[in-house]
Amino acid sequence: MKALSTIQQTMFHDIHTKDVFEKAQEYAYDYLDRVMERNVYATDAALKDLVHFEEEMPAHPSAATTVIDLLHKYGAPATVAQSGGRYFGFVCGGIVPAGMAAKQLATYWDQNTAMSVLSPVSAVLETVVEGWLKDIFRLPAAAVAGFVSGTSVANFSALAAARYRILARYDWDINAKGLAGAPNIRIVTGNHAHAAVLKAIGLLGLGTDNIEWVETDDEGRIIPENVPELDDRTILILQAGNVNSGSFDVFPELCEKAARANAWVHIDGAFGLWAAAADGLQHLARGIEHASSWAVDAHKTLNTPYDNGVVLCKDKEALRAALHASGSYLVVNDDTRDGMFYTPEMSRRSRIIELWATMKFLGRSGISEMVHTLHERAVQFAEVLGGIDGFTIQNEVVFNQVLVACETDELTLKTLARIQELRECWVGGSMWRGRKVIRISVCSWATTAEDIVRSARSFERALHEVQEPVA
Ligand SMILES: *Cc1c(COP(=O)(O)O)cnc(C)c1O
Repeated sequence: MKALSTIQQTMFHDIHTKDVFEKAQEYAYDYLDRVMERNVYATDAALKDLVHFEEEMPAHPSAATTVIDLLHKYGAPATVAQSGGRYFGFVCGGIVPAGMAAKQLATYWDQNTAMSVLSPVSAVLETVVEGWLKDIFRLPAAAVAGFVSGTSVANFSALAAARYRILARYDWDINAKGLAGAPNIRIVTGNHAHAAVLKAIGLLGLGTDNIEWVETDDEGRIIPENVPELDDRTILILQAGNVNSGSFDVFPELCEKAARANAWVHIDGAFGLWAAAADGLQHLARGIEHASSWAVDAHKTLNTPYDNGVVLCKDKEALRAALHASGSYLVVNDDTRDGMFYTPEMSRRSRIIELWATMKFLGRSGISEMVHTLHERAVQFAEVLGGIDGFTIQNEVVFNQVLVACETDELTLKTLARIQELRECWVGGSMWRGRKVIRISVCSWATTAEDIVRSARSFERALHEVQEPVA
C-alpha cells in the first residue's frame, strides 16, 4: 500500500505550496477593486459565458488552480454586484469588510458548530452574541438565540416552538404524537405577512388555509381593532419591516392584547428589527420586547455575509424541545452551549464567526450609524425621484424601502425593464395596493449619496427612453 494516494499527494502539495490560495486571494482582491464601479447586473456576454460550466461530470482530477481560474474567468463576471453601492433589489444587504475577512479566515478553520465539544470557540461566540443581540434589541434576559441560515429558518424554528408550547398546554406532546388529532392551533396574521412566514406555516403542518387574516392599513400594518379575539391556542404573527413598504406593526397595542389572552406573539423582523438598534429609528420597534419570539437576519440590514439569521425565543424550553433531536426531554441547566439544540440542523458551518466579527467591528454606535444611514439614503432616493416628472412615491419612507410608480402600470414595467438593462443600478418590481411598482431597498453600507444620484439619473433616463423610444 502506498503511504499516500495520488490525490492525497496532490492535495498535500496544494496545502504546502499555497498556490491555489494565493490565486484565489488575488482574484478576490481583483473583484473587490472593481465591484463598486462595475455594471451592477451581469452583462449578456457574461451570462452567455456560463455555458463553460455546462460539462459532463469530470472523469479525472483537475489542477486546483485551474478550478479557481475557471471561477474567476466565467463565474465572477456573471455575479450580481450586491457588495457594491447600487444594488437595491429585493431586500438583501451588503458586506462589512471585517465580516468578510472573518468569514475567509474561518473557512480555513472549517468548524462544525453542532456542539461545544466540536468547536469551543463557536460555542463561546454564540453565547456572547446572544447576549449582545438581547442587549441592543432590548429583549428579555430569558430569551435564547439559535444561529440559522436566515429568517425563513428562524421563522420556522420560532413557530415550531410556539406549536410545541401551545400543544404542551393541552398535554399534547407534538414530538411524540404528531398533529393528527391534536388540539387546534389558531394562526392570526396580517394580509401582508411575508411568503417565508406562509412557508413555515405550511412546513409545520398548520395549514395556510387556517390562517385568520387581519386587514392592514395603507402602509401594510395590521389594524389593531381588526384583530379577532385571541386565546391561548393562538399564534399572532407580526412584522417589523414590511418587505414592500418597510412599515412596522404597532407592537405595544397588539402585544398587550395577546398577553391578556396568553397568546404567542412572533415577530418577523428579518430586516426591520435592526431599527431597534438605530438612534432615531427606535420608535419603529417600540414594544418588540413584549413578543414571545423574533426572527431576524444578520445578512440583510447588518451586512454580514449571506447565510446568517437568528431565531430568538423567550421560552427556552419550548425552542429546545421543538428542535431537540431526541424528543421533548430537557437538559435546561447545561453549562456549555450546544448550538444544535437551538436550530433545526445538527452540523452547521460556523456562521457565528462573521456575525461576531461584524458586531465587534461596528459596536453599538457603528450599527446605529450604519442602519440610520440606510434610512437617510432611502429618504434621499425618494426625494430625488419625487422631484422628477413622471415618478410618484407610493409609501411613507419610514425605514429603508421606497416604492415608486410611473403614470401607468405599463409605463412602470417598461421603465423597470429599461433600468435593469442599463445596469447602472438594480431594482426589482412588486405590487402595491393594486399597482405595479418599482421597489427600492437600500441595504448596503456601501451606498453613498452619489450612488443615489447616479441611480436616480438612470431611472430618469430609462423613463425618457421608454416614453420616446429611440428610433
Ligand atoms: C427576507 C425576508 C424573509 C426571509 O428571510 P431569508 O433570510 O431570505 O430566509 C422573511 N421575512 C421578511 C420580512 C423578509 O424581508
